[in-house]
Amino acid sequence: MTKYSFSCASVGMNCGFEITNAGTEDELLEMLKVHAKASHGLTSIPADMVEKIKSNIKKSGKYSFSCASVGMNCGFEIMNASSEDELLHELSIHAKTSHNMTSIPQDTLNKIKQNIKVS
Ligand SMILES: [Zn+2]
Ligand SMILES: [Zn+2]
Repeated sequence: MTKYSFSCASVGMNCGFEITNAGTEDELLEMLKVHAKASHGLTSIPADMVEKIKSNIKKSGKYSFSCASVGMNCGFEIMNASSEDELLHELSIHAKTSHNMTSIPQDTLNKIKQNIKVS
C-alpha cells in the first residue's frame, strides 16, 4: 500500500511540520488544512498552493511495470522498484537495449506511467 508524506519545508515554508506515511492523499490534505489554519493562519489553502503541495507529496510504495501492459510482447517486467524515478530509469535502459529506442517518446511515457502499478 502506498504511503503519503509531506513536509512544509518542501514548499519553502520555514516550518518543521511533517506528515509521514498517511494512508491516502486525501487524508494527508485534510490534515494539512488543519495545520494550515492552526499554524499558518490560512482559512483555506489557495488552489495554486494545493497544486504545489501535491507535487511535493512523497509517495512510498513499490513500483512495478510490465511491457505487456502497454502492448509490448517482450516479457519484460520490473517488480518492486522503490520509486517511479528508479523504475523509469531502469525502463529507459530496457527500451534502449531491447526496443532500440534512444529515448522514450512522451506519449509512450504517459502510457507507461498510467500502467505502473504501485503497491
Ligand atoms: Zn507548516
Ligand atoms: Zn520490453
